[in-house]
Amino acid sequence: MIYGQTDVGNVRPLNEDSFYFESTPKGYVMMVADGMGGHNGGEVASQLAVESVREYMAQEDIFSDPEIALRRAVKHANDAVYELASKKESLAGMGTTLVLAVGNEKSVCIANVGDSRAYLVSKNNIRQVTKDHSFVNELVKKGVITKEQAKNHPKSNIILKALGIEPEVYPDIFLLEKKRTDKILLCSDGLSGLVSDEEILEVMSKFNKKNACMELVRLAKEHGGNDNITVVIG
Ligand code: CA
Repeated sequence: MIYGQTDVGNVRPLNEDSFYFESTPKGYVMMVADGMGGHNGGEVASQLAVESVREYMAQEDIFSDPEIALRRAVKHANDAVYELASKKESLAGMGTTLVLAVGNEKSVCIANVGDSRAYLVSKNNIRQVTKDHSFVNELVKKGVITKEQAKNHPKSNIILKALGIEPEVYPDIFLLEKKRTDKILLCSDGLSGLVSDEEILEVMSKFNKKNACMELVRLAKEHGGNDNITVVIG
């Protein structure tokens, strides 16, 4: 089973995150998109990205070669967001992150653009699979600031890659073997910015997937809820 939850948080007037998940006999698909842009551009971009991936999935078999399918699905979504942003003046400059996972009990393929995240969570361990395409993560990689300093950095909202901004975008792709009991967690930065990896692991080890989603959203809000919060666990 997969569960997902989204919440506007404590501060923002709109929820610009979108998510989707689906289980089929062949495997599952799950995704989180976190939009940005003036007016309602963020909402439009994240919803359109998710819809475009679903549209792609409805036409193509994504399970036979997930890596190729994910690259094509991301391209399809990028085309759709980029095209609408170019056509409609009020939506100019809109974009969205996208983290997208396709898998089964034994393996998972993840595509990522932006700073939404995928984690692999086992009984006693949590591992961030994706790398944030963010300004602060570049500073961390270069050793300019520590991971701890990155957390409350004033420029933590600057992302270096997003869907819909350029005519082409190339996602990072991660292929993982997993145990049947391992879980995949996708989230927007409204969760990962406020709830530590250790807290996520603790919640995941205590609660079932559905209650873990609720508890993680509650924790993010308790810690300030300064952004939209989305979490999907499969
Ligand atoms: Ca966000």
